[in-house]
Parts: sequence; structure tokens; C-alpha cells
Amino acid sequence: MRCKILAEEFRSDGGGVEVIVGGDFNSLPVENDGVYSFFKDGKADAVRVRGRCYDYFYGEVEEGMEGLKVEGRPRYVLDFTLNRLCRWLRLLGVDAALETEEEEQVRCKRKDLPCPIFERCRKERRALITTSSRLIGRKECPPAAFLIGTSGGSETVEKGLIKLMKDHGVVLRPREFLTVCVKCNGKIEEVVDEGKIKEAYSAKLAPKSARPLFKCDGAECGQFYWWNERESSSAGRAKSMCAGLFQRCVKEGVKYEEDLGLFAGLELKPPPPPAPAVAAPKRRPDPEALARPNVEEWLKSKELINDCGKFISAYEPGRDVKFTNLTRDFRGTLDYIFVQDDGRVKVESVLPLPLTLEETGGFLPSMAWPSDHLPLSAVLSFVELDPDHPNGGHKEDMSCCRPKGIFSMFEMAEMRKEWQEKHKLKEKEEEEKKKKEDEEEEE
Ligand SMILES: [Zn+2]
Repeated sequence: MRCKILAEEFRSDGGGVEVIVGGDFNSLPVENDGVYSFFKDGKADAVRVRGRCYDYFYGEVEEGMEGLKVEGRPRYVLDFTLNRLCRWLRLLGVDAALETEEEEQVRCKRKDLPCPIFERCRKERRALITTSSRLIGRKECPPAAFLIGTSGGSETVEKGLIKLMKDHGVVLRPREFLTVCVKCNGKIEEVVDEGKIKEAYSAKLAPKSARPLFKCDGAECGQFYWWNERESSSAGRAKSMCAGLFQRCVKEGVKYEEDLGLFAGLELKPPPPPAPAVAAPKRRPDPEALARPNVEEWLKSKELINDCGKFISAYEPGRDVKFTNLTRDFRGTLDYIFVQDDGRVKVESVLPLPLTLEETGGFLPSMAWPSDHLPLSAVLSFVELDPDHPNGGHKEDMSCCRPKGIFSMFEMAEMRKEWQEKHKLKEKEEEEKKKKEDEEEEE
């Protein structure tokens, strides 16, 4: 948003000024990451809220990045309020842990202690799903954290589920439905030991008709499960609940594996084809609005339009850069040097960056790299506007193109020196004046 204001200042200054923006953008080089696409494409969908990282838990592991290898499917931990969503994820075979009541108490009442749900994300390498923007905003919050809105009953919980599946590219595997314990997230396995089966029958933990018999492997749970085709039975209810969620997910475009197993024969409707795109009228900047930039209003608009036009990265993400930030929990490109993409600024060279864990000497900061971010540097040159004039028709110090109020570091140093000298001179004059007055008084 700072960029927009600056751009407007530049324009009101007569225009024609090149804009170069650099720094920590906290944005990944992907289509839907707001800040990045704002610079790269000239606009961003401001309404879409997405997590701060996703290749953390299911991205492809590139060469040199094996230290970050994690399982190829998302693992979640949900805050205490998301009990229902958690059960649904488990029904669909997704690994979903739930914050315990004790953990929630510590999180809310003992801010002096480490937040247990954050600890769990890091230790168990889980992505956090929460309804609390305050929780996501906490400093120690791990990078893979996603905000989800579920207030207003099962309809919104269902929408939240579908959004999660789609945003994270989860592929549903019907063969794995009903294999996760809805009570504790343990794995449900068949009991084959005849002795143990008999034990369960005699302890009345399962009816004698329960064959085959299954049991949750959760250390403190040990819940028994068995099939029952009756719709009103627990198994029947779980199956029809699961089928309903599956149908709804498929209808909304969530991907799934074709091997349907238990759910073969279930009617699955693919999502309707997208409506033909209607060309939107080109948005023209309103001159009055440009004169008075209202950042808050502007942020609420569906699309943020970058009035400077498109920018290009001095470094090509993916080619010269594998990451600019590399910690145990996160790897990604967050830092950029962007220049306006109109051919008037040329990237001469860039400072090469380390591309592998080996080159950085481990996670950052390391002995070789004192920050968790890598330093970016580029040599840029301004392309001459008019080759027939010296300096392309600009004044030698480029003062014709520099907006008022922005000075180079050297100019600022000169200004400080000048001010100090003036100030000293003034002090000296006043001192002498006082001395003279005192002398006169004495006489
Ligand atoms: Zn269990």
C-alpha cells in the first residue's frame, strides 16, 4: 500500500519516475500470494485469504533440500473450537489432531508459557487450522497456519472443509476413509489375535457378531470398531456421513482417487463447468481518488490494482533463487528486488545466492549467514531516454526525475553536516551576544 501512495506522489510530481522496490515482502512467488502478485501482475485478489506457507508440508522436495523432507500429505492440528471439522477430516482419512482442553487453557490463560498448539505444530510437523486471527497473529505462530471461518453452523463448517481441501490440494483417497479413529486420530487396525478378540467380547467392548473386529491403535483410546450394514448403527451412520461429505467435496471440485473401495457405486457429480468469463471493463484510475489515497478503503476492494504497472524481479524466482528464507519450519522466497517492467531499468547483475542446504551450512541463521534471510543485491542501470542528449536528456544528478523529499544517503549526510555547522554557528553567536550583554551590565 506504501507503494501505491508513493506511486501517486511520483505521478503528481510530473511522472516518468522509475520505481524500484526491494525488501522482505513476506510473500511467496505464487499466483495467489497477494503482495507478490500485486507487484508481478499489477493486481491481487485482496479478498482471498490464504495461509502463509504451503510447500512446508507437501511441496516437492528439491535437490539439496532433503533436510526438509516431510510426508507427502497434509497433517493438521486444529484448535479446540474445531471439534466437528476435526471429526469430519478424520472420517475422510485425513490426519487431524485436535488441541486438548488443557492445551487450550494454557494457550488462553498462560501467555508466559510456550503455546502448546504451536509446540505441537513444530514437534509433529503439523499445519495449524484455527478460527482465531489473534492466534495466527502471535509472534511465535509457526509459518504453516491457516485461518478458517466456521461460525454459523454445519453449512459453514462444510464450506471450511471444502476450502481447506481445495486450497491445500488434498486428494481424497476413498480407500482410506473410515480408517482414522474419530475419537483420537489413531489408526484403525484389524484385530487378528483370537485371544484379544475373545477378551473384547467378554469385556463387552464389542458384540460377538463383530467380525472382523477393528481397534484404534491410540495409546489411551483403544476404541473397537466393527461393520454393521444397518443404517441406524454407528458404522452405518459414519459411512453415510462420510459418503455425504465425499459427494459434496467432489461436487465442489476436490480431487479424489478413482479407486472407490467401499464407496463404489456412490453417485459422484463433478463440479459444473465454470461460467464463461465476461470481460470486465478496464478500470480507469479515478483522478479524484488518486489525489486523496485512502488506504483502508483501497484494501477492502476485491482487487488491488498496482498503479505503477507490472514489475519484474531482478532475481528470477526458481532460477537464481531457491529460497531467501530457510529455517527448520519454513523454506521459501520472501525477499525481492522489483523494478518496473517497462524496459527503462536494466538489471546488470545480481549477487549469487546459496541454493542448497549444504551451501548455507544448515538452516539459517548459520555460522556463515547471520540472518534467517539471505542478502539480495542487484546492479541496475537506467536506460537512456533520448540517445541524442547527454545522460538521455536528464540533468546530470537526475534531479529532474527525483521526487521531492527523497534524498540519497549521501545527500542526507551532507544535510546533517550542514545543519550541524549552522547550529554550531548560531550557538556561538548567541554565546558571544550574551557575553557582551553581561559585560555591559557590569559596567
Ligand atoms: Zn482412538
